[in-house]
Amino acid sequence: ESFKAFNLSQSMLDVLEKKGFFKPTPIQIHVIPPLMKGDRDIIGQAQTGTGKTAAFGIPIIEKLKANTGSIQALVLTPTRELALQVSLELESLKGDKDITVVPLYGGQTIKNQLKILKSGADIVVGTPGRIIDHLKKGNIKLDSISYLVLDEADEMLNMGFIEEVKEVFRSTNENKQMLLFSATMPTPILKLAKKHMRNHDFVSV
Ligand code: AMP
Repeated sequence: ESFKAFNLSQSMLDVLEKKGFFKPTPIQIHVIPPLMKGDRDIIGQAQTGTGKTAAFGIPIIEKLKANTGSIQALVLTPTRELALQVSLELESLKGDKDITVVPLYGGQTIKNQLKILKSGADIVVGTPGRIIDHLKKGNIKLDSISYLVLDEADEMLNMGFIEEVKEVFRSTNENKQMLLFSATMPTPILKLAKKHMRNHDFVSV
């Protein structure tokens, strides 16, 4: 397989080559095509290190409109470290496409985050608690997002974030595409996914 099989733009192919991504990983082979088509939600069983961030990052970045001034994609992560790591990876994949990736997690001041949000965010990557804080304050709106990604969903469950995750769901629209990645698939995660997803593909690597 080659990234060239995925209908990606030349600028994305250039970015991947510069990053030294010469071949898609198995999770990328399964996740990139349906996301490029835009027709399926996805449950992906994958560990860290499998290339799952680029699996959702590449097609989402390709599909986003440049610089709309509103949030188009939200990635929820269980920890600050992962939020930062995912946002850096997305940042490195966007090349010179004019979109802004903003990490939002506890430990940064709300005030600083608000300043950054005001200058426009296309992709927000954050922990559930901090996302809810900003929602409640009216600092972010999620009702027009096109993509919602739950990364390491089992960890979010283990850390007790399930209610927060449900609250985030309630503030989004019906038409978004949903992606759920998890190393394990405990029942509450599968239930949540089934409740909120439309037609989904299940991918396990
Ligand atoms: P992740 O599973 O998203 O944490 O990714 C693990 C590591 O693999 C990260 O450092 C990525 O930059 C890298 N990576 C992801 N996709 C590829 C690929 N197709 N080829 C080479 N490295 C990759």
